[in-house]
Amino acid sequence: MSNIANILEAQLDTISLRQLSAISAVANSRGVKAYLVGGAVRDALLGLPVHDIDITVVGLTLCVAQNLADALGGVIVARSQFNTFAVDAPDRRLDFAMARQETYQQPGALPTVSPGTLRQELARRDFAVNAMAVSLNAESWGELHDPLHGMDDLRDGVIRVLHDGSFADDATRILRAVRYAERLGFRLDANTARLAMQDTAYICTISGARLRDEFVRVLSEGRAVSILEMLNNLGALQAIHRSITLDACGLAALRRAAADYADKPTLLLSILAYDMTSADKADFIRRLRLPSRLAQIITDTGLAKSRVRHDPSSDVLSRSEIYMRLRALDETAVLGCSLREENSIVGRRLTLYLDELRYIKPVLDGDDLIALGVPQGRLIGELLNDLLKARLDGQVKTRQDEIDFTLSYQSCPSC
Ligand code: ATP
Ligand code: MG
Repeated sequence: MSNIANILEAQLDTISLRQLSAISAVANSRGVKAYLVGGAVRDALLGLPVHDIDITVVGLTLCVAQNLADALGGVIVARSQFNTFAVDAPDRRLDFAMARQETYQQPGALPTVSPGTLRQELARRDFAVNAMAVSLNAESWGELHDPLHGMDDLRDGVIRVLHDGSFADDATRILRAVRYAERLGFRLDANTARLAMQDTAYICTISGARLRDEFVRVLSEGRAVSILEMLNNLGALQAIHRSITLDACGLAALRRAAADYADKPTLLLSILAYDMTSADKADFIRRLRLPSRLAQIITDTGLAKSRVRHDPSSDVLSRSEIYMRLRALDETAVLGCSLREENSIVGRRLTLYLDELRYIKPVLDGDDLIALGVPQGRLIGELLNDLLKARLDGQVKTRQDEIDFTLSYQSCPSC
């Protein structure tokens, strides 16, 4: 068995190393076996920065978890029925889990869980590269446990499921497989790729919340667009929702969004939603149990598209009209729509709004209007709105223009 203590010491920062030695001391004094597992081991072995610390303890109990939290100077902030504990330590959060075995009664259902050995714990994981553990007990500190040959896959650049029923048990693993492959520059091994394609239908067995979480993780990855493209090729995007389509225009828009803009996940979502019908949007939002912010982006993408639609019978929209039609919409949705829009007139309207109109404001405010003699009340709001329109349409350009506009407004008999 190889020992990777030197790799851990090189890859983990001092805070994590200090935390691991505190865990080691508790494991030894309580006579339990503790391991660093999952992504931290994978990333350390690849020479990548390590973010999350996940610890598996064989036979973990609340009492041992409490000892661990105390030794870290932290508190247990969450506990699940499967004896997993999230501990908020002063410097960062760690996750502890009891080593367990799982059996899936039916595809997509949550597994039946019972205490297990380290080997069983690793065998329930998604891919061999994520199924390695490093011992933290003093006498075996740094020993690598790799019964499923994750090291071979790291060397070969391969994402491999641990058994043929893996995607049927939990089809979120299809999204995860592609995500890791793209992130790490790996490929799916031939059998895993075949199973992924064959088992996309099981995605419908996944609960909305779990599917949403994995989908948002996809959208948040650096190489999100390539992941979406690969999921599309596997048929997995369509399995997430029948209305997600990815044609050449959609892909080009996604690439532009990913290259040029921050807040990428929501922007990508907007572009994916662009072509959906209203009924499909509502169904997609329900299926993925999207929170209101994301639901809003999807809905507003459709509204942005329709509100400035090019209508040959009345194809002149003033600048203020464009502004008024778009101003209540989420700006990410308007941006997503503009990146995806193929009609040049509509595209220009959206871009005009984003680049220029939304920043235009009158110079005068409510106090200025009152000082000019406008009575307090509803008229102030109306006048500010009309001032804004006049600014947008270039009818007023200076502060004096706005004052003149205000004075003539008051003397207007219809007011
Ligand atoms: P990331 O850098 O994306 O966080 P990670 O490997 O830490 O990568 P997590 O989603 O944080 O991934 O999960 C931690 C570990 O839990 C994984 O490495 C994997 O071993 C296991 N795991 C997570 N999700 C699943 C799943 N759906 N099926 C089986 N094992 C899983
Ligand atoms: Mg993680």
